[in-house]
Amino acid sequence: MGKVVVVGSGVIGLSCALYFALEGEKVQVITRNPQEATSWVAGGMLAPFSEGLEGELFDFSYESLKAYPQFVELLQEVSGRRVDLWRGGIYRLVLAGEEELLEVGRHYAERGHKVEVLQPMELSGLSEEVRWILHYQEEAWVDVEQLMEALMSALKRLGAEFTIDSIREVHRQEDRVLELRGLVSTYGGDFYLFATGAWTGELFNLPVCPIKGQAIKLRDAYLDRVHYSSASYLIPRAGYLYVGATSEDVGFLPGNTLEGLKKLSEGALRVAPFLSRALVKEVLYGYRPSTPDGKPIFEVGENYLIATGHYRNGILHAPITGQIALEYLKGSSSPFLKSFSSRRFLTKA
Ligand SMILES: Cc1cc2nc3c(=O)[nH]c(=O)nc-3n(C[C@H](O)[C@H](O)[C@H](O)COP(=O)(O)OP(=O)(O)OC[C@H]3O[C@@H](n4cnc5c(N)ncnc54)[C@H](O)[C@@H]3O)c2cc1C
Repeated sequence: MGKVVVVGSGVIGLSCALYFALEGEKVQVITRNPQEATSWVAGGMLAPFSEGLEGELFDFSYESLKAYPQFVELLQEVSGRRVDLWRGGIYRLVLAGEEELLEVGRHYAERGHKVEVLQPMELSGLSEEVRWILHYQEEAWVDVEQLMEALMSALKRLGAEFTIDSIREVHRQEDRVLELRGLVSTYGGDFYLFATGAWTGELFNLPVCPIKGQAIKLRDAYLDRVHYSSASYLIPRAGYLYVGATSEDVGFLPGNTLEGLKKLSEGALRVAPFLSRALVKEVLYGYRPSTPDGKPIFEVGENYLIATGHYRNGILHAPITGQIALEYLKGSSSPFLKSFSSRRFLTKA
């Protein structure tokens, strides 16, 4: 057993830290600002089908989806906190003119997945623009605020140390990290895990860029399950409804804008006009860690792992990323580390 230093306290850093700590490692989590993590503002959909994922990214995401119930159960047990996980599927709405999405649903069904094709009922209150509903029965969603709180509590209970600092330099020699230099201090360990989300480009020469997302929480609004469409996604949580999300290439421009909130309101009302009188409870924004091909990035060294670029699906990818990181620490390498290796971005001479 040794000391593991984790940089970043988003869902990826904390999930990796949890698996390390459960294995008896001494864990130090260094974070610039725990509240800055995008993970707090995510929708929490675990939705590889609704997202239309394919190939290795689908396999990676689906494996993580399957791991979720056990992950949440373990987390609740270790933290002593409640984490709501809603199973039983997500509704992918097919709007007028989007009938090709039925083909996507058929394609998943042919591969043995549970897909139900429904027609919206008049009483559902959905707009006439909603022509079909693909019920992806294996999908789920999680309350990310509860998830993040529970991850932090679990780690504290397991004796992990939390340090507030901004890491400015990673001192490396060949394939080894020697130490980390922060604004406040320098840090060393036997193994290092970097999960710095959309800010990864500040520390490493990796193509991770922020894609801003804004969202709204509504009170007095009820739906029985997630309604995901090209106009908006509506996510019920205990006591409120989350409406997501914009997708903006504006760098780290902070705040909620009128244009963003207009887009969200119009998108929600386009599919669910009955929401027009719902009250705004809160507005949110965050930065998705995007990559040129939309896939995560892993970089491995002798004593470190960088896990970043989870873009639109970082909440979904938390359990599998944690498991892969632990396997790597213990000396075995998941094939996904190769599939999503940072080496794919090396320019060919
Ligand atoms: C509006 C919105 C909705 C979303 N909905 C979903 C969804 O429904 N399902 C889903 O799966 N995903 C969703 N996502 C994507 C998901 O939120 C991200 O993929 C995920 O949160 C990334 O997690 P992370 O741990 O990599 O980064 P983050 O959560 O951003 O954490 C990064 C951490 O690193 C720290 N850090 C950065 N640089 C340094 C440094 N130099 N020194 C110290 N600390 C540092 C930061 O302070 C932060 O704590 C959504 C995103 C947005 C914006």
